[in-house]
Amino acid sequence: MSILQEIKNRVRSKSIHVTFVDVGSCNGCDIEVLACLAPRYDIEQYGIYVHNNPREADVLLVMGAITPQWTDKLRDLWDKIPEPKAAIAVGNCPISGCVFARRHMYIEPPVEKYIPIAAQVPGCPPRPTEILNAILSLAPTLFKDYEEKQR
Ligand code: SF4
Repeated sequence: MSILQEIKNRVRSKSIHVTFVDVGSCNGCDIEVLACLAPRYDIEQYGIYVHNNPREADVLLVMGAITPQWTDKLRDLWDKIPEPKAAIAVGNCPISGCVFARRHMYIEPPVEKYIPIAAQVPGCPPRPTEILNAILSLAPTLFKDYEEKQR
C-alpha cells in the first residue's frame, strides 16, 4: 500500500458519515439519536457527520420494529449506500420488536432479516453515549483499507 493510501485510510477513519432511518418506532430512539447532534454530546467532535442522503453515508442507523411497508424500502435504501458500509440496529425494536412484539402488532422484526447488521445497541431507548460508542467501534474495521474496498 502506498503512503498516500495509508494517509487516506487514516484520515477517512476520522470522518464517518451517518444517515438514519425510522422503519416504525415510537420515536423514543429517534430522540436519542438527535440528542447525539446536540451540544451536550456533540457528535461532530468525534468526526461523525449526519446526512439525509444515503449516497453520502458510510453507516446506516436503523430505528423501529420494521413494518411490512418498510421491508423493501429499507433494502433499497441500503443498496444506495456506497461500499464500504455498515448498519447499526438502534434500540430493542429493530432487534426484537420490543413492546410492539409483545402486543402482536403488525411488524416484521428483526431488521437483520432484510439488511446485514454490523452492530446492535440494545435499550428502550439506548443512551446517546451507547449509540456513539457503536459508531466509533465500527470505524476501525469499516475504514480499514478504505481505498481498496472502493474499487
Ligand atoms: S426501542 Fe423503545 S424507545 Fe426505541 S423505538 Fe422501540 S419502543 Fe421506542
